[in-house]
Amino acid sequence: MDKKTGIVIGRPIEGISLNGLEYALDEQGGYIHFKTIDEAKQFLRDSGVEDEDDLEDCFMYKHHAFCPQCGEEHLIDPSDLLEDEMGTRSNCEKCEAPFYITVTP
Ligand SMILES: [Zn+2]
Repeated sequence: MDKKTGIVIGRPIEGISLNGLEYALDEQGGYIHFKTIDEAKQFLRDSGVEDEDDLEDCFMYKHHAFCPQCGEEHLIDPSDLLEDEMGTRSNCEKCEAPFYITVTP
């Protein structure tokens, strides 16, 4: 199983957020990962997104991570992350364990 983690780019399907998100995928159908949101935005610029506002308005950036306890896959909105003295934390809704993710500034 692909356990790569990092920032992934999502976009509301047909521009409607209720439809869920589709993600930027590589040729093998796996998520394309970036170290930072800035790197993801640069990828979009290189892919032909010219309007800087579209980078914020038309795309979502998620932390792709796996729970170290149960292995559950997570796509976490950056605004859902919590900061504490140990680092950047999320909570697994499956096993209810908190876990830390690597965030590159
Ligand atoms: Zn878990």
